[in-house]
Amino acid sequence: MADDLGHRATRHAVVIGGSLAGLLAARVLAEHAEKVTVVERDRLPEGPEARPGVPQGRHLHVLIAGGQQAFDELLPGFMDELAELGAPKVGVPEDMVQWQNGRWYRRTPATVSFFTGARPQLEWLVRQRVLADPRIELIEGTETVGLTGDSSRVRGVRVRERGAGADKQPRTLAADLVVDASGRSTKSADWLADIGAEAPHEETLDTGLAYGTRVYRAPDEDPGTDATGYYIVPNPAQVYGGVVLPLGDGHHLVTLSGLRGDEPPTDEGEFEEYAKRLPHPVISDWLARAEPVSPVYGFRKTANIRRRYDRPGRRPAGFLATGDALCAFNPIYGQGMAVAALSAVALRKALADPRRTATTRTVQRALLDASRQAWDISAGADKKMPGATGDAARTGPADKAVGWYLSRVQQRAAGDPVVGESFRAALTLTAPLTSLFAPPVARAVLFGPPAESPAGPPLRREP
Ligand SMILES: Cc1cc2nc3c(=O)[nH]c(=O)nc-3n(C[C@H](O)[C@H](O)[C@H](O)COP(=O)(O)OP(=O)(O)OC[C@H]3O[C@@H](n4cnc5c(N)ncnc54)[C@H](O)[C@@H]3O)c2cc1C
Repeated sequence: MADDLGHRATRHAVVIGGSLAGLLAARVLAEHAEKVTVVERDRLPEGPEARPGVPQGRHLHVLIAGGQQAFDELLPGFMDELAELGAPKVGVPEDMVQWQNGRWYRRTPATVSFFTGARPQLEWLVRQRVLADPRIELIEGTETVGLTGDSSRVRGVRVRERGAGADKQPRTLAADLVVDASGRSTKSADWLADIGAEAPHEETLDTGLAYGTRVYRAPDEDPGTDATGYYIVPNPAQVYGGVVLPLGDGHHLVTLSGLRGDEPPTDEGEFEEYAKRLPHPVISDWLARAEPVSPVYGFRKTANIRRRYDRPGRRPAGFLATGDALCAFNPIYGQGMAVAALSAVALRKALADPRRTATTRTVQRALLDASRQAWDISAGADKKMPGATGDAARTGPADKAVGWYLSRVQQRAAGDPVVGESFRAALTLTAPLTSLFAPPVARAVLFGPPAESPAGPPLRREP
């Protein structure tokens, strides 16, 4: 069988994992395959609730601008529907009090926005929209335990109903195409080895960042400020992070972060004490006025991991990886959901490309390309964090020059609206990183002194 994934060559595609990357990939594959089956280990809740297979779902999940565009492209009208469900939209820098690299950001008019509703709500809406397509079937409560085929071609997956017991033989689902969207803990290396193929090299970079997250009922309106959120961003000189953002139902999510060996506590009594390590009491003061309404949830698996399927190796046709299973990021930069959607957009383009045959290799490369900018941002910043480990933590001479320029961008982004807008566009994946070198930005970065930024937390929007 030829390795041609486009031109309606696929009869049955199986997607492993029914979370964001899997559902969005299924949405695109349904345009090409006769049938798409999504195999999900969890039994999925009826409503927008957290579930065991997505433990990160209890933590803060902002949808950045590049992701919003991609969701709308894949599921027209999606962002309006999310807003109708009550997911708040926070204008940046206008609505947020933000501290980064020793500076407070001016609250000039917003140039981008974040959607800050609960992650289970967003995933639930995606599920409703995607599964409305009769060509897509969800098999829930069923775990993929392996692949079928050999090192030259994958021919399906082996699945076992959850709770069926290890003695129950897995059954086989035949497929022309299998897409791994089972998240950052994917077992793809074992699955590939079991059919005689090679696992991809895993690039890693781990700062040991840990999250502690708790839901609070917001304090009564504070006449002293019009801010909707607070954000203290960690950096190599100040490694603690804190974010307060609205969930849209009178509640806020508060996430505190710290590095390996000094992680935020999950003990309810100690959580607010830990917030006092932040470089300013603005978040502690907010917590003192708010009311906690949930336990503290912890999360520690935050390494950047990129699986290099693009490098040579004995790999089968008909097997692709996407989402966190391909490239997972340190969540502090808020990129993973956006990249899951951008990857599905890239999948659509690669499968429909009239100029070349969509082979496993070309499509996998397109998927990797969709995550490249987010990786460069996340791994680029994390390399400088103290105690970062992994083979992607090494720096070269080019890193030094780019690092010098970017540190000047950051010094200026807080007070200079032109540099700030460009910086935010790149970070939110709506403009390429090269746009930071465009003439008006480069002039301010290379020749001007940093524009003045607020001396303390700016509690009011600038007119
Ligand atoms: C603490 C934290 C905070 C984050 N914050 C943000 C943020 O602010 N903004 C943002 O954009 N991103 C954020 N992310 C990243 C985001 O959660 C992921 O990038 C996003 O969920 C993409 O996920 P995915 O679909 O690839 O994998 P996941 O969402 O992890 O889903 C994997 C799915 O596969 C299923 N599965 C696993 N193994 C099997 C198997 N063998 N068989 C069948 N099913 C299986 C699981 O049950 C699950 O449903 C954050 C991540 C973390 C950890």
